[in-house]
Amino acid sequence: MKYNADLEKLCADYAFDGLKESVAAFRAGNPGRKVVDLGVGDVCLPLPRVVGEAMAKASLELCEKKTFRGYPPAGGYSFLKQKIVGRYAAEGIALSEDEIFVSDGTKSDVTRVCELFGRANVLIPTPCYPATRDVNYAAGNAVAELPCVKEEDFLPFPPYGKKYDVVWLCSPNNPTGSALSFEGLRRWIDYALSVGALVVYDGAYADFGDGRAPRSVYRDARALRCAVELRSFSKGAGFTGVRCGYAVVPRAAGEYNRLMKRNGGCRFNGVSYVTQRGAEAALSDEGRKINEKNVKFYKTNAEILKNAFKNKNLWYNINDGSPYVFAEVPKGFSSADFCARLLRETGVVATAGSNFGKAGEGFFRLSAFCSREDAFWASEAVGNFLETL
Ligand code: PLP
Repeated sequence: MKYNADLEKLCADYAFDGLKESVAAFRAGNPGRKVVDLGVGDVCLPLPRVVGEAMAKASLELCEKKTFRGYPPAGGYSFLKQKIVGRYAAEGIALSEDEIFVSDGTKSDVTRVCELFGRANVLIPTPCYPATRDVNYAAGNAVAELPCVKEEDFLPFPPYGKKYDVVWLCSPNNPTGSALSFEGLRRWIDYALSVGALVVYDGAYADFGDGRAPRSVYRDARALRCAVELRSFSKGAGFTGVRCGYAVVPRAAGEYNRLMKRNGGCRFNGVSYVTQRGAEAALSDEGRKINEKNVKFYKTNAEILKNAFKNKNLWYNINDGSPYVFAEVPKGFSSADFCARLLRETGVVATAGSNFGKAGEGFFRLSAFCSREDAFWASEAVGNFLETL
């Protein structure tokens, strides 16, 4: 039998699948013990009511002969794409409907975008969202990690003098929370244009920015010639279970737009009408207000969790543009050993930094997607634990 050798480059488990299994094993072995899971970054606030109502109405439309709909357009319904174009226009970015490709979330878009460039030399600043690295390996790309360091707040700098076909950027970053400034973005666009690289800009956390960093790669207008942007409804709007996101593939960036349309047409039958009506409602005035409130809630949780690190002489991300706390592990521990001991002694689940690439070793991540009560509880538990080391 023939297997895809590129899939053998992946480690045994997807980072968060392995984590879920070890947490399940810990719960089974410690019945009755309180466990606060700050490992996988899944949201806990419910969908905005306006989204639920729009989806309920859309479901009922599908029950009537007159309003029934079958296959959706592969790239998304015009009503949602118009809304997305309108949001960009409000930020001074001119896009057209045919540059938007609606999907079932950014994780799928990472694969779809990989299919646009075929086997390529790609550069991924790390620590990074594990799927980005995995999908590039699985696609047979030559993957170079660009290690980012705490002394530079984990911000990536272009590899001047080296040429890559594709550069993946994630801002605000998962897991470090670092966000590229306007100047940082300008440097990357300069680099991409000078070597003819495509930038893939993962903006899954765009809503979490602190207002000082650009929300979109297209705030540097030259990016329309060299960048694809990925956006998700998962975090602020609570769509991790519903599933919706979109890719922006500008026509000015060469053949990618045509190829995205052609490839989407043969491999994807579109996102359900019900979901897209929900996403449309998430972008309404009311939906956005709730999104903003949710983002604020999670960011406040992150600030509460950060109290665990005050006066502990350990580096942690002080930026406030993300739902994650990324912190150094105390000396003498690997990140995996530290997370295992943290779970054993406190019941708090964290993700080892090594899951996010080599540059993440020596660090760990706490997700702030939790209840306020759990944020306070975990902050105290982690702080007390660190005191004992
Ligand atoms: N991109 C980044 C950087 C993420 O952290 C995540 C999820 O945690 C995703 C993409 C996945 O987004 P979606 O739920 O839209 O697939």
